[in-house]
Amino acid sequence: MKKIIVAIDGYSSCGKSTIAKALAHYAGYNYIDTGAMYRAVALHCLRTGEAPLDAIQHITVDFRNHHVCLNGEDVEGQIRTLEVGNMASKVSPIKEVRAFLVAQQQQMGKDKGIVMDGRDIGTVVFPQAELKLFLTASPEVRAQRRFDELTAKGEQPVFEDVLADVNDRDYRDTHRAESPLRQAEDAIVVDNSTLTREEQMNKIIAIFNEHIH
Ligand code: C5P
Repeated sequence: MKKIIVAIDGYSSCGKSTIAKALAHYAGYNYIDTGAMYRAVALHCLRTGEAPLDAIQHITVDFRNHHVCLNGEDVEGQIRTLEVGNMASKVSPIKEVRAFLVAQQQQMGKDKGIVMDGRDIGTVVFPQAELKLFLTASPEVRAQRRFDELTAKGEQPVFEDVLADVNDRDYRDTHRAESPLRQAEDAIVVDNSTLTREEQMNKIIAIFNEHIH
């Protein structure tokens, strides 16, 4: 069985991380959530007021025990808020920020056996990935999932705000000049609007197995 690179791209809140994590577990592969890296840069900028271009000159962003660390501090618990998500989609269009993080992502995948999720994995980070998946779901379904996640965390979101946020973020992610979110030509599209997590997982595992033999 060969070791491959699995690139998973798609819109925000369409369950990429859950699927990527589960697939990595199934395959015995390493899992990298690149959104967490953009969020860590954003968190630093929010905390310090520093401009992203200055920040990337001295901060470190890496993973320890699958948790993203900012300057060595585990910030996994602080990056999944609306505020950090919004800031992440403002720092992510900056070319230098992308170059800083993409170089590290490519390094992490050099030995293959990796599942990486994000927006530009199949198009920019690993255009040579053996398996590219593009996940999508309707904005309403994604907003409901995000709403449920935030509520479960004790936040009190307003559904219309969450939906507006999903739409804004989609617009920014697909219209930016640097590495906009788009489907790679050779990506397999999985629309999970009406699939249960289990149905989706079974479908993706079947696709994965076809690609490693
Ligand atoms: O996936 P997640 O919502 O955690 O990503 C946060 C933000 O980081 C996205 O809205 C997007 O702007 C940015 N991002 C990116 N490229 C990636 C991963 C995330 O631009 N590979």
